[in-house]
This record gives sequence, C-alpha cells and structure tokens, in this order.
Amino acid sequence: MPQPIISVKGLVKNYGDFQAVKGISFDVFEGEIFGLLGPNGAGKSTTLEIIETLREKTAGSIHVDGYDLDKEPAAIKKIIGVQLQTSGFYPALNLLELIDLFSGLYNHKVDAMALLKKVNLEDKAKSKSKELSGGQRQRFSIATTLINKPRVIFLDEPTTGLDPQARRNLWDLIREIRTAGTTVIITTHYMDEAEQLCDRIAIMDQGRIIKLATPESMIDELVESGFERPKQMKAANLEDVFIHLTGRDLRED
Ligand code: ADP
Ligand code: MG
Repeated sequence: MPQPIISVKGLVKNYGDFQAVKGISFDVFEGEIFGLLGPNGAGKSTTLEIIETLREKTAGSIHVDGYDLDKEPAAIKKIIGVQLQTSGFYPALNLLELIDLFSGLYNHKVDAMALLKKVNLEDKAKSKSKELSGGQRQRFSIATTLINKPRVIFLDEPTTGLDPQARRNLWDLIREIRTAGTTVIITTHYMDEAEQLCDRIAIMDQGRIIKLATPESMIDELVESGFERPKQMKAANLEDVFIHLTGRDLRED
C-alpha cells in the first residue's frame, strides 16, 4: 500500500460569509502525480495554498508527511516546494541570482547552474525573468519549487496559456521530477493533460470534491453507465495534426 504523504480531513475555508471550500477530505500518496481539477472558482487554489501554509483554514485537519499543519507548519514548509513569484518582485535579478536569493531564504544551499540545467534553462542563466517565453518562465517557476529538495511540490495551473510544444515539454519535466522521487500535486484545466499526466484525480466543484479516482476508472465508469459520444471520434484530433505538422521541438529560443 502506498503511504499518504498528504492527508486532508474535513477542510473548510470561509471568506467572510462565503464558503469557498466545504469540508473536503482526500489523501495524496507518496510518489504520485495527483490532479486537482475543476472549473474556475471551485476552490482548487485555496485548497493548495492552505496545504502550503500560505492561507489560514477555517476548519479541518491537514497532515503532510506526518506533520500536523496546526502544530508544525515550519516543518511542513521545509519539505514542500512552492512556486515562487519572481517577475513582480525582483525584476533586476537574473535567473542565477534569483535562485541564489531563494536558496538563501530557504537556508538551503543549491547549485544554481545545475538546477537551471535540470529545467533546460542553462542558456538563460544571465537573463531576467521578464525576458523569458511563457514556457521558459514556467520551467523556471518549477525550478524554484525544487530549491529545498522537497518531498512534494505544488503546481497551480503550470501549463495555462502555453503552446502544445511547451505543454509537452513541461509534462516531461513533471514526469522527471516524479521519477526522481518527488510527489506532485497539480491543478489544470486541460483534461487531456490530466488524463496523460495524473495517477489520480479529484474533481472539485463549488467547494466540494465530487469525484476522486484514476482517470481510467472515471472514463470506464462513464462508458459503463451507457454514455456515448454524440459523434464518432476520429482516430486523431486537431492537436495531433498540429503536433504532427509542427513537431515537438520548442520554439521559444
Ligand atoms: P480556483 O482556484 O478553483 O479557481 P479559488 O480557490 O481561487 O478557486 O477560489 C474559490 C472561491 O473563493 C472563488 O469564488 C473565489 O472568488 C473565492 N476567493 C478566493 N480568494 C478569495 C479571497 N481572498 N477573498 C474572498 N474570496 C476569495
Ligand atoms: Mg486557481
């Protein structure tokens, strides 16, 4: 049995009179890529930010790697990787300097160049974050989650707005991070991405988890219930055509 690295029980978040998260419970197992899906406003970012210790919860309990969020938030901070804001706060620093800065803040020494290499940005070491393409910026943002060698990282819509090549490149990176032993929690609006990338998915709507299972079992269950697509699907879709014509190589440099 895989062990839960994150355990959420009865999580509630109120913003004034409005209940954004309505008592959700779920476990994330060590070593999996866990997807949090749902329409805008479902409560995904709120849930992630509470687990990341960045937002106060209203009720419920959370454990990360056995640490109780109410009692040992500092211990949790040490073992999680959070995407750090770079562009707005530190526009004058280049990528190497930013990693050194964050490495100091985390009190965790890191080989900045090796980390940039890992996300395929060694050529951009002396660039400022505003000079990066969308895909490069997201790769850098993922690099910042890895500085403290975390057990689990949180990625909130990392591929939103990226072209198909950059999305595939990011999927490969996320898979590599998982293979290296880090648990990944990701939110996304792209169902093909969730289907390909995630081991298990929780679908949230209006503050509740309405389904939690593997992508395959969700699809099988729907098919078994008698669901049929209105139109017979072709053996390829337009994204397949696009990738076939333009290739998988990144176009950002
Ligand atoms: P998602 O990430 O799924 O789009 P969020 O967690 O960002 O959803 O937001 C859930 C709900 O809570 C939304 O209705 C949003 O407007 C509301 N909300 C988020 N942050 C705040 C806040 N700081 N104050 C008041 N309402 C908020
Ligand atoms: Mg969000």
